[in-house]
Amino acid sequence: MEMPEVIPICYCGNPAKLNMSWSNDNPGRRFFECKKFSNGFQKPCRFFSWFDPPLTPHARVVLLGLLKKVKTLEDARKREEKLGF
Ligand SMILES: [Zn+2]
Repeated sequence: MEMPEVIPICYCGNPAKLNMSWSNDNPGRRFFECKKFSNGFQKPCRFFSWFDPPLTPHARVVLLGLLKKVKTLEDARKREEKLGF
């Protein structure tokens, strides 16, 4: 993953963390959020900022199709593992 040139500073004063969205609306779209998000001890601030521009409807359909394909393959692999192949 290429790194952004400019990392925004979140409300806590820390450099924000780049994450990827897997929602149906924004598959694969990257965004910045508070670094503390995954830390259970500290409450993250509400900083949120998109890094990638919005997906076009076409790109969204293509990406969702690909994600579905990957998931189908993975499910098949898991089934095979269970069967002991
Ligand atoms: Zn923060």
